[in-house]
Amino acid sequence: METGNLTRNILIGMVAGIVIGSLVHVAPLSAENVISIYLIDGLFDVVGDVFVISLKLLVVPLVFVSLACGASSLGASASMGRIAGKTIALYLVTTALAISLALSVAVMVGPGEGIDLGEQTEFVAKERPSLKETIVNIFPSNPIAAMAEANMLQVIVFAILVGVALTRCGPAGERARDMLNDWNEVIMQMVIMLMKVAPYGVFCLLVALFANMGFGAILDLAKYFFTVAGVLVLHFLITYGFLIRFLAGLNPVRFYQRMGPVMAYAFSTSSSNATMPVTLDTVKRRVGVQNEVASFTVPLGATINMDGTAIMQGVATVFIAQAFNIDISITGYLMVVLAATLASIGTAGVPGVGLITLALILDQVGLPVEGIALIIGVDRLLDMMRTAVNVTGDGTVATIVARSEGKFDRTIFDGEVSELDVPENEVQAETETSTHER
Ligand code: ASP
Repeated sequence: METGNLTRNILIGMVAGIVIGSLVHVAPLSAENVISIYLIDGLFDVVGDVFVISLKLLVVPLVFVSLACGASSLGASASMGRIAGKTIALYLVTTALAISLALSVAVMVGPGEGIDLGEQTEFVAKERPSLKETIVNIFPSNPIAAMAEANMLQVIVFAILVGVALTRCGPAGERARDMLNDWNEVIMQMVIMLMKVAPYGVFCLLVALFANMGFGAILDLAKYFFTVAGVLVLHFLITYGFLIRFLAGLNPVRFYQRMGPVMAYAFSTSSSNATMPVTLDTVKRRVGVQNEVASFTVPLGATINMDGTAIMQGVATVFIAQAFNIDISITGYLMVVLAATLASIGTAGVPGVGLITLALILDQVGLPVEGIALIIGVDRLLDMMRTAVNVTGDGTVATIVARSEGKFDRTIFDGEVSELDVPENEVQAETETSTHER
């Protein structure tokens, strides 16, 4: 495949997957049909799954190695703490803005008015850890177990510790750091290799998904569906556009263009975690965020920053309150803002988990958790859309923090590099420069 056309090909794969999948869905095929058995539930499903699994495969090694390298180049200096503070504050603020916007629009639109509750199915909420457990769980007792379980917060803590320790043990630390830098290159190369097959992976994922998607539910829940979708678009364009323009001083349109492939991956996989390798690669090589900032902000964002999810949860809360005819009052709404902001920290970046943490929010304001059953039918498609917003939020914050810390390469952002694929020797040259700079 022509490497220069990669971004375009991913988009073609995406659109073709959606169109063909939707056509198969409406075609009068029986479940025993050869196309259904061997292509949709066979070949496409297998290739799609293998593609997502391969993306996930890279997450733990990538987070560990790139963050240890990033933390070690920031060293024990105050900048690590400052970057962490700014990043976490921005993640919380953008999520609070997202949920506030969602609540305001939902209250105006009234998505749950006139809903027939007779059709509800049952929803069983999963058990959730307490706040105390959540805090203690950030700290790993066994880093290997943390990696094996892909517990991202624990891996992040361990990687930062390793990175800081590297800077404090002289020549041994330097040797170990050089080795980690080399591994960083190897793993980034794996990301690039995987991106080359992305158009096919994305196509297969989406054909299989759309062929089996229940579109009927969208018609029944049109008001809810389009309210969530509308707020996602508003937040994406207005909040992020404004932040990129005024806090980062960059052109938002160019930023969206650069982030295009990340959104396509997030949409296709519905997983911020699985998209993380692509987000990291994109913010570094297409946007211009340097590794010291990107390696911390992006994995953290994929784990704790879920603006799109918070939007769905805000609209869903209003929807369920209206459907059950329960008035949750202004304090209830404030509670929702707080609970959704915190819930977004606890929402893992995997498909569908936003619905589970929604249970926690409903609980907080005394709404029936069974209300979730009302919206399950349309959640798959909304999950794809909100995940695209989640990862754009990670990229936005990474860019703002990098700009404010002087860790942003403006020539990359302004340059002509518009494709995912950079010739290998260029990546090498880039690394050598940054290694020497250190
Ligand atoms: N799928 C979302 C993500 O990975 C989380 C969710 O809202 O369910 O970002």
